[in-house]
Amino acid sequence: MVRPAERAMGVEYAIRDVVLPARELEKRGIKVIRLNIGDPVKFDFQPPKHMVDAYCKALQEGHNYYGPSEGLPELREAIVEREKRKNGVDITPDDVRVTAAVTEALQLIFGALLNPGENILVPSPSYPPYTGLVKFYAAEPREYLTVEENGWQPDIDDMRKKIDEKTKAIAVINPNNPTGALYEKKTIKEILDLAGEYGLPVISDEIYDLMTYEGKHVSPGSLTKDVPVIVMNGLSKVYFATGWRLGYFYYVDPEGKLDELREAIDKLMRIRLCPSTPAQFAAIAGLTGPMDYLEEYMAKLKERRDYVYKRLTEIPGVSTVKPQGAFYIFPRIEERSKWKNDKEFVLDVLNEAHVLFVHGSGFGEAGEWHFRIVFLPPVEILEEAMNRFEEFMRKRLAE
Ligand code: PLP
Repeated sequence: MVRPAERAMGVEYAIRDVVLPARELEKRGIKVIRLNIGDPVKFDFQPPKHMVDAYCKALQEGHNYYGPSEGLPELREAIVEREKRKNGVDITPDDVRVTAAVTEALQLIFGALLNPGENILVPSPSYPPYTGLVKFYAAEPREYLTVEENGWQPDIDDMRKKIDEKTKAIAVINPNNPTGALYEKKTIKEILDLAGEYGLPVISDEIYDLMTYEGKHVSPGSLTKDVPVIVMNGLSKVYFATGWRLGYFYYVDPEGKLDELREAIDKLMRIRLCPSTPAQFAAIAGLTGPMDYLEEYMAKLKERRDYVYKRLTEIPGVSTVKPQGAFYIFPRIEERSKWKNDKEFVLDVLNEAHVLFVHGSGFGEAGEWHFRIVFLPPVEILEEAMNRFEEFMRKRLAE
């Protein structure tokens, strides 16, 4: 028997882990409504045509070679323009790096930043790679609370308590997965102040930045004066191109505090060669092209969010904060006497109602006794899912 590395055995990804029992049901011919994975392209969303055309053209015109490790210069220029428009940041192409999506950016940044035993502050609940990848590098993801009663805004006092001499950075995911929270400008300022006080950089995941229903996203990159910020973004959500695996990050670092880290990250970028070249041509088209598709898609998503939110407010035994961004809703299980924990609840819903949610504890401690629903499918499918879920809850509560 070949023994795998222990560091790999500890890695979990709740969103895909629940698929195994769903597959068992499907093998028996049962139709499961899967509301577990945040992939809009699995539903009635596609990347805009001008991006698809640019991708095809790049392939046909022979752009099938290795590109520079840091990304194509034209794309880095397009990213600068996009980010100046969105965040008013003062950056140049030299501050921008192109990656195989945000997931690779996380691997590179965490890999270059964290020594074993060091820690990084991550939100709780949060998108699982933030804890899983940090652990993979033998470092500690330290979860700071986000407060449900306060629209899942980060608890700054709790953040402060979690910082020690081994803390290397504060990670912020806004709009948030799994809660759909959109952080207030005041909160972002407070996070920057705290980071400044302790000399920490802020790592900002903005993959859902233009996907907001009420209010606008505020980037720490747009507000910082001296605190270094690393902003990550990509094509997966706002540009509806999850499978292209393309993203980027950039440094807002007016005082050059990240110079050594940049060098370390660049070394890691070189040994992984480069991101997909043709996908970068598609990205240029996306970042410089029209965004009218987004209005139409956001209108669809808003209708779906409103529908699921309304249904959940009418279903007994659960309560829900209305998400303001992304495409997730994160209800709380109020009636707890029937299940041992949220995972048992989610499996019960799956086996009985054939609807697949993700257990909240898979997103960290603050996610316990919650579950995440992806509201990407059309209303007819969401209606069927909510009908089945409502019937399930009424039955269980009557038992
Ligand atoms: N960051 C957050 C907060 C996400 O929710 C996701 C995907 O669900 C990702 C990053 C992954 O992004 P990418 O497809 O760019 O790797």
